[in-house]
Amino acid sequence: MRDVIVVGGGLSGLIVGAELQRRGKNVLVLEATGAAAGVASSVSEDGYLLEPGAGSLLWPNADLAPVFEAAGIELLAANPTAGARFVYQNGTLFQIPESPAIAFSGLVSWGAKIRAVREPWVKTPPPSEEESIEGFFNRRFGKGLGRLGATLMAHGVFAGDPAKLSMRGAFPKMVALEDEAGSMIRGMLARMRQRDKGTPRASVHVPPRGMKGVAEDLVSYLGESFQANRRATALRKSGTGWIVEAGDTFEAHNIVLALAPHLAAGLVPDDVASLMADAVVAPVAVVGIGGRAADVPLPAGFGALIGPDTDVRVLGILMESQYAPGRAPELHHLAKGIYGGGADPEVLARSDDELVALMIDETSRVIGTRVQPSWTKVVRHDPGIPQYNVGHVGWMRKLDDAVANHPGLHLTGWGYRGIGVSGFGTEATRIGKALEG
Ligand SMILES: Cc1cc2nc3c(=O)[nH]c(=O)nc-3n(C[C@H](O)[C@H](O)[C@H](O)COP(=O)(O)OP(=O)(O)OC[C@H]3O[C@@H](n4cnc5c(N)ncnc54)[C@H](O)[C@@H]3O)c2cc1C
Repeated sequence: MRDVIVVGGGLSGLIVGAELQRRGKNVLVLEATGAAAGVASSVSEDGYLLEPGAGSLLWPNADLAPVFEAAGIELLAANPTAGARFVYQNGTLFQIPESPAIAFSGLVSWGAKIRAVREPWVKTPPPSEEESIEGFFNRRFGKGLGRLGATLMAHGVFAGDPAKLSMRGAFPKMVALEDEAGSMIRGMLARMRQRDKGTPRASVHVPPRGMKGVAEDLVSYLGESFQANRRATALRKSGTGWIVEAGDTFEAHNIVLALAPHLAAGLVPDDVASLMADAVVAPVAVVGIGGRAADVPLPAGFGALIGPDTDVRVLGILMESQYAPGRAPELHHLAKGIYGGGADPEVLARSDDELVALMIDETSRVIGTRVQPSWTKVVRHDPGIPQYNVGHVGWMRKLDDAVANHPGLHLTGWGYRGIGVSGFGTEATRIGKALEG
């Protein structure tokens, strides 16, 4: 009888398992496949390291630091060029200037800029608790800048549809700025004033061996508390806890399902499963292209997001080898593009070869120079990325209520309270506290 069984050896399951072990709990993490890391299983091939999921995270991170330190996880600051970010809009690649210089960029019209600077005085309340990202940005900044901002946020973080994603569900910290200060700009200025000047600003960091290396370090830390090739096929309550069938029978006081809703639905009690049926996911494909620097002449920077007025279908292109060391052989470059998502799943009907051809053509157009890669890779995620569409906040409330009816059951991972790895430490802390009672 263990304290806790974690089902799922993706990054969220490994982080929560390692954090609970660090807190002195008797933990067992069960992973269905032969290796940990889930969607973030880095591909190492011919000297390239392609991240099919998360490739970087903002560091320092107070919740992740203790568990990363315990597991000996190394993170490197990204090359300083990571500060350069681009937007492709109306057939032109713009480097996003630091504000207030954005006022002089050609990204949006002067009319749109003038409307946007009136944001601190906009008093219109949200039409409903769960407004779409597009609705939120249009209301606060006007349709010109609003449409651009909403598209970049939706594509860049969720590969989602800005008209469908819930602003409060997907970006709760931004909504809190309006809730607290009546305006995003005022709220941001207040936060900047409150910020402890001694606290280092979080910046982009990368794991030198990729996210797979992070997973391997967490697996080493877990030791015998991690078991691969253990697919959980059934879950039921026992007298004092939970029983998991995963080849053998395992028992624990608590069960953490580190599985997105579509994976967890077959295991949870019926009332929870019926809610999980409403969860939305969107398929994506990650297309990597690499080659000699002269043949893949990427601009120095983090990447380019694609604006709403565009002639390409790629949602964003990350200049992997430009900001992350060790992503391509010396004097070579690696870029990755994301296709599909909530607004354009149809593009994924194309074959891998067709997606590669599209990526080569569109990268050439976006950076303004022909690229001729010698290495390519396509990784498909299907069913894909959880979409926190309008209704997500209400859905989470109902899900939390339903889960509360089953003491000892916990849900975590990218399907619920945050899509990115940065939030998994907060999740692990939340579950750690719940287990303390
Ligand atoms: C294209 C893309 C780009 C991304 N970019 C970023 C980024 O830049 N920054 C960032 O922070 N995040 C990013 N993410 C998100 C990040 O990769 C995910 O949040 C994270 O990897 C999800 O981890 P998870 O453990 O919640 O889920 P998963 O990775 O899905 O892990 C679930 C695990 O459970 C296992 N499993 C399934 N069923 C069972 C079962 N019945 N029994 C046992 N095990 C089971 C699976 O094999 C898998 O290993 C990106 C994602 C994608 C797709």
